[in-house]
Amino acid sequence: MMNNINNTLPLFILALLILCSTRSYSQTLSVCIIGSGIAGSSVAHFLRHYSDDLHHHSPPRIGPIRIFERHGVVGGRMATVSIAGHTFEAGASILHPKNYHALHYAESLNLTIKKPSSSSSLSLGIWDGHKFVFKTLTTNSTCPFTQKILSLTNSCLMFFRYGLSLFRMNTFVERTVNNFLKYYEVFESRPVFETVDEMLNWAGLHKLTTRTLQEELVDVGLSPLLIQELVTVITRINYGQSVSISGLAGAVSLAGSGGGLWSIVGGNWQMAAGLINSSRVILHLHEEIESISYLGDHYELNSTEGNSYQCDVTVVATPLDELNIRFTPKITIPMRKLQHTHATFVRGFLNSAYFGLNAASEIPTLVGTVESLDLPFSSISVLKQHSEQDMTYKVFSREPMEDELLDRIFSVRRETIRIDWGAYPHYKAPERFAPFVLDGQHLYYVNAFENAASTMETSAVAAENIARLILSRSFGQAAASSSNLKSSAADAYDLHSDL
Ligand SMILES: Cc1cc2nc3c(=O)[nH]c(=O)nc-3n(C[C@H](O)[C@H](O)[C@H](O)COP(=O)(O)OP(=O)(O)OC[C@H]3O[C@@H](n4cnc5c(N)ncnc54)[C@H](O)[C@@H]3O)c2cc1C
Repeated sequence: MMNNINNTLPLFILALLILCSTRSYSQTLSVCIIGSGIAGSSVAHFLRHYSDDLHHHSPPRIGPIRIFERHGVVGGRMATVSIAGHTFEAGASILHPKNYHALHYAESLNLTIKKPSSSSSLSLGIWDGHKFVFKTLTTNSTCPFTQKILSLTNSCLMFFRYGLSLFRMNTFVERTVNNFLKYYEVFESRPVFETVDEMLNWAGLHKLTTRTLQEELVDVGLSPLLIQELVTVITRINYGQSVSISGLAGAVSLAGSGGGLWSIVGGNWQMAAGLINSSRVILHLHEEIESISYLGDHYELNSTEGNSYQCDVTVVATPLDELNIRFTPKITIPMRKLQHTHATFVRGFLNSAYFGLNAASEIPTLVGTVESLDLPFSSISVLKQHSEQDMTYKVFSREPMEDELLDRIFSVRRETIRIDWGAYPHYKAPERFAPFVLDGQHLYYVNAFENAASTMETSAVAAENIARLILSRSFGQAAASSSNLKSSAADAYDLHSDL
């Protein structure tokens, strides 16, 4: 008899441990999210969406959701600036036509989509610090025939300079985008991922994070000229970095330069605001979290306001690299540097002499740059023409743009707004990823995925996986894979295949 008890006791303890590690169906989880950007708001949205979908079969599993935001507005790196009564994106500005979560957000939140302006009024120039090494043509004509001819001429100009390499570049980007689309598959075929490596491997994207974009592009047969010029222009605009970023970040960056790009009228931040409003979130603005302590069965969060919050699950939805949140017990993640991008908004008029030109009208509407030590900016683009000599421009640079420099580049400067963004990771292949689960318990980190690529959509995709991971680790795998749950992105596929 004694022997029997000895044998069954470990089994009993094991069963108890299993029961404790997944929660009973009647228990609800309180969730605290740090950061109100697209990542934090998406976690709240998917937790509510997946938990409410199951509601008619069992009690709701997600209790109160709190989002903490140190600033007075939501959206994080989705922010706007106002110049001359117009609103412009100051951070994340463009979305890809296959960004299905964002499309679904725009649709379900009734936000208006802005399509890009016609390409005939836009021109690209590649500036090497001394001269434009390549320029496309532009026209002010609204005649469709003239626009068509111009577009054909520009395609020919591109082809003459870069040849068949352009097609190889497109194939490389399309292949990567197609792999990424696997993240919208239905739950039956799409697992919940415990780590970033697992998530990337499953979609066939991991290898691209182990090599530089340059290495990948040489392998697929791109000419050195295309890599040095057009590709470099794009990586400098989108990530403020050279072609030595990882192949995956590079492919994402190149995809963000294609056709059909869109944004939200009035500002992309409205996606975060809408998701927060529709997800029954308790929003704490102006509340910075300074410490997170695990107290055995829950977390205690302390804010700089002197407040203390208790929650079962904590989600960090902001890059940890430049923050000093105190964790107890301590957590360790791979060192990561953020790339700082200085976004300088200028209302004024460019100085044609700076570019060695006779008239400002000869300056392309988008000035991209190659890698060169003496180049003080990465790009200058026209955001709006108010009148003939009154425009709003956006300048991206790696270093701050001092007044003296701006006064050489601009002949007129009425208003200047400077923003220093801790913008995205400084990509370095092979990438090392922080864990999604920071402490092996219930402390999650959405922005571990940013080392793969940093965009609004990749944040939403990572957030969706984190929501499923929370449900599966708290209530068992079935909770995050039930056929009752419908992937909202799958709906977006049907709704938006035309965009
Ligand atoms: C200049 C620029 C251009 C870009 N262009 C594009 C683009 O065109 N398209 C695209 O898709 N992406 C673009 N991106 C990238 C995109 O902005 C990000 O990938 C995405 O917005 C990240 O969202 P997030 O929610 O993960 O982080 P964030 O938006 O950074 O949100 C984190 C939030 O957490 C808050 N926070 C931080 N610490 C605390 C704390 N201790 N307590 C409380 N709150 C805290 C922050 O204030 C912030 O609001 C761009 C980024 C920059 C900077």
